[in-house]
Amino acid sequence: MEIDCIFCSIYAGEIPTEFLYRDDKCFVIRDINPVAQIHLLIIPTNHIEYMNDSPDRVNVVVHDLFSAAILVSESEGISESGYRLVINQKEDSGQEIRHLHMHLLGGESLGPIG
Ligand code: 5GP
Ligand code: ZN
Repeated sequence: MEIDCIFCSIYAGEIPTEFLYRDDKCFVIRDINPVAQIHLLIIPTNHIEYMNDSPDRVNVVVHDLFSAAILVSESEGISESGYRLVINQKEDSGQEIRHLHMHLLGGESLGPIG
């Protein structure tokens, strides 16, 4: 748990948030500012700031993040229509929150990337 990290605070229950999925490895919430009909955030419970700084820890959680993505794509009803997974890293990506997370976007035609 990192002090002053919004995702750590959400997982700790300090900020009331609906969890679409939660276990001791990762959790899924809706993005507060959705850019698609369905916009979820898949977040490891461990505070990993940047992938490149913690490759070993990333390797451990990547399976959990993708498993959660499969689960929630099904519970949201978009496993057939499709979805996009995005991870922003550092300045050029516009990363806003320095706690590793994966965006899951879907529920509509997303168009090309960029
Ligand atoms: P990033 O740009 O870091 O990849 O994405 C961070 C995302 O977190 C943004 O899409 C933003 O809308 C979302 N976000 C920021 N603060 C909160 C919050 O307090 N609750 C939720 N559910 N999402 C948040
Ligand atoms: Zn954190």
